[in-house]
Amino acid sequence: MTRYWNPRTEALAREELERLQLAKLRRTAQWAAERSPFYRARFEAAGSRPEDLETLSDVRRLPFTTREEWQASQIEAAPYGTLGTIGADRAIRVHTTSGTSGRMPLRALDSRKDWSWAAEMWCYGLWGAGVRSTDTAYVAFGYGSFIGFWGLHYGLEKLGALVVPGGAQSTESRVRQIIDFQATVVASTPTYALRMAQEAEQLGVDLRGAPVHTLILSGEPAGSIPETKQLIEEAWGARAFDTAGMTEISTIFMFECAEQPGGAHIIEDHLLEEVVDPVTGEPVGFGELGERVVTSFGRSSLPLLRYRTADLVVRVPGTRCPCGRVFDLYEGGVQGRTDDMKVVRGTNVYMRAVEAIVRGTGGVEEFQLRIHREGIRDEVTLHVEPLAPYEDESGWRDLADLIARELAHAHEGLRFHVERAEPGSLPRFELKAKRLVDNRPALEVAHVR
Ligand SMILES: [Zn+2]
Repeated sequence: MTRYWNPRTEALAREELERLQLAKLRRTAQWAAERSPFYRARFEAAGSRPEDLETLSDVRRLPFTTREEWQASQIEAAPYGTLGTIGADRAIRVHTTSGTSGRMPLRALDSRKDWSWAAEMWCYGLWGAGVRSTDTAYVAFGYGSFIGFWGLHYGLEKLGALVVPGGAQSTESRVRQIIDFQATVVASTPTYALRMAQEAEQLGVDLRGAPVHTLILSGEPAGSIPETKQLIEEAWGARAFDTAGMTEISTIFMFECAEQPGGAHIIEDHLLEEVVDPVTGEPVGFGELGERVVTSFGRSSLPLLRYRTADLVVRVPGTRCPCGRVFDLYEGGVQGRTDDMKVVRGTNVYMRAVEAIVRGTGGVEEFQLRIHREGIRDEVTLHVEPLAPYEDESGWRDLADLIARELAHAHEGLRFHVERAEPGSLPRFELKAKRLVDNRPALEVAHVR
């Protein structure tokens, strides 16, 4: 039995992979120019033709597509805009982005064919993590209009695993179902995996003794934060694999293979991913932090060309991983979003670094970082719900001091206030956790970003 879902492409030589990508890029650009009103107008205005793409790097001659443009087209031509190649009459389902940061959610239509593409893409990741047809997979997900784990659900079916759709219900009933159905695989966000583990402990349910051997994580960068991942793996007695996807391409774009080389493979035969400087838009090299830009080859209803994702990543060569896949890696997964890096009194505060420190103490149940302005001075406060062993006064003092010290150390001496929050008072997340609250005046926040 092979370790690859699709050995024909996953084990290609780099030159062959790039030849395949160029052919797919040309076909996608052509399709977009013919069928998408948005891209047709764009190619016409630029006086360029998809046939002019002669090498892979010619992709840089195409302009970026931004979320703002997509959104504007959906306001102008409500509700679905002009990017897509089909209308509601030929689509079978609509999904929306989660609409974080107070933005209007994007709406995306998919055809039957798009969904079978999404399922195929998920199979790369599921198979790579060791999921097989004999597994029973529990999907702890609300099955709403947010696309979340819908693609994973179809991937599991395609692979032949037994799916338990853990839709809208309480965390307690989900934990009980995982045990009752003897699930061997569980899919959830990293935050929710921790939440279920806490619930199980309160219920006296022994997750470590349960048959779950694999967790498929998605939806937040924390799946690749070693400190968070270790907590999850210890609580479940299972291996955790990071994946990431997005509504804009309908599905997954990276997955961690069984070798877990400290990064996730990009599904390069179905996507062309570039990493650029978020300010200049110029390409950055291997090992440098930049913004993901994606061109997706397989979603015929929404052919996306050079979409600015706002995800921050560091790309490294796939040869670094011993699994033999040609696909390059995003080291440490998605490192964050261009909008969750904040500047406080001249110092960069980066949620990923904060989470690594907070989870690394092993004493925190839930937390939230709030930035506000006092007079002319920015103040940053971490609100913490400690775990039971740190609830008494001296335990809490030690924990708070440790967190404050480590945060200051990692942020050029910037002082973080650490405050205790009442048990259960901070928000819990089933979808994308949002633990950063910036209450500074909007204009100035925009200015320092
Ligand atoms: Zn690998």
